[in-house]
Amino acid sequence: MAHVRKPLIAATVLNTGICVIEALAGSQAHSLSLLMDSIHNLSDELALVCLCLAYLLPLMLSRHLQRSANLLNSVGLIAVSGLMVWQAIDRLISPTAVLGYVPLVVGILAAGGNGGVAWLLRAVQDQNPAIRLAYLHNLGDVYVSLAPVVAGLLVTLLGQSLFDPLMALLIAVWLIGTTVQEIRSIGEALLWPEDAVCRHESLPSMVNYW
Ligand SMILES: [Zn+2]
Repeated sequence: MAHVRKPLIAATVLNTGICVIEALAGSQAHSLSLLMDSIHNLSDELALVCLCLAYLLPLMLSRHLQRSANLLNSVGLIAVSGLMVWQAIDRLISPTAVLGYVPLVVGILAAGGNGGVAWLLRAVQDQNPAIRLAYLHNLGDVYVSLAPVVAGLLVTLLGQSLFDPLMALLIAVWLIGTTVQEIRSIGEALLWPEDAVCRHESLPSMVNYW
């Protein structure tokens, strides 16, 4: 079990780093797109923590924990994303200056970090379908983290801050859409630990290139 726990814990720690750095840099640079990707990675963080718990705690206990955490995660994710949509619309109406190079640089770091999380999970992905799902999900997230990079690039090149809330809006709508779709299509099955890992689609068409 230890050979599975170690990469799982390392992946969770790395994902924590991505969340914290994106949140701090996003708030410092007034970058909503970076904050939105931080929220997205936070939702993956809860899934990774659940996966760690499944390997650390007795099965029944971890199943119960994962059911509650998973439901809470979905509801919380939709609520926070909704709040970000409102914030992004507010920023589009009354623009705030954004330090474009921050989402540009931090987004690249986050994409690399998500790639690192996927790499750590890859070593143990054959152990469990839930780990494989988390691995594929984080591969897809490499591309999602590039959204703030595109926002930062457009803000820097064109000098228009509105590209940042626009990109945040896109990420938020994608996150809400895929979470709702997941809840509707899987229903009760969503509450089982096997499905606890992937809270939203991981851009399967892009994953196929890996
Ligand atoms: Zn994700």
